[in-house]
Order: sequence, then C-alpha cells, then structure tokens
Amino acid sequence: MEVDRLVCAGTGLCLGTAHGRMRLDGGRARPVDEVVGPDDAVLDAAETCPMEAITVRDAATGEVLAPLR
Ligand code: SF4
Repeated sequence: MEVDRLVCAGTGLCLGTAHGRMRLDGGRARPVDEVVGPDDAVLDAAETCPMEAITVRDAATGEVLAPLR
C-alpha cells in the first residue's frame, strides 16, 4: 500500500475507512504498515480516497488491486 503524499489532501477519510491501517503525519496520510494481509477495508480506503492518492498492490505480483479504474 502506498500513499502519494504530493496528491493526498489530508482529509483523514482513509483513517476512518481503514481503521488502524493509516495515520496522519505532517498533515498527510501514511500507511502504518506498507505490507498488510488481505483487508477489504484497505481496498475500500483506496477506492474512496477523493484524491486517488492510495494505491494497493499485490505484494507478490505488483498488480494494482485498488483503485480500479
Ligand atoms: S483519504 Fe486520501 S486524501 Fe484523504 S487523507 Fe487519506 S490518502 Fe489523503
């Protein structure tokens, strides 16, 4: 899971969607852990980020899992 900190607007929305997976640092979101097990809440956070700043990839293949465009 990655957050593009140049794109993140610091809304904090993802902290509520993916509880415990994201934190704010300097007014921008940052993953608590960059590699996590399968977690629908993390996918939801990437899908609902208003800036599309979150990208979730399959750690093994690099395939983008969310957001799906
Ligand atoms: S929802 Fe998106 S824009 Fe808002 S804090 Fe999270 S990553 Fe940043």
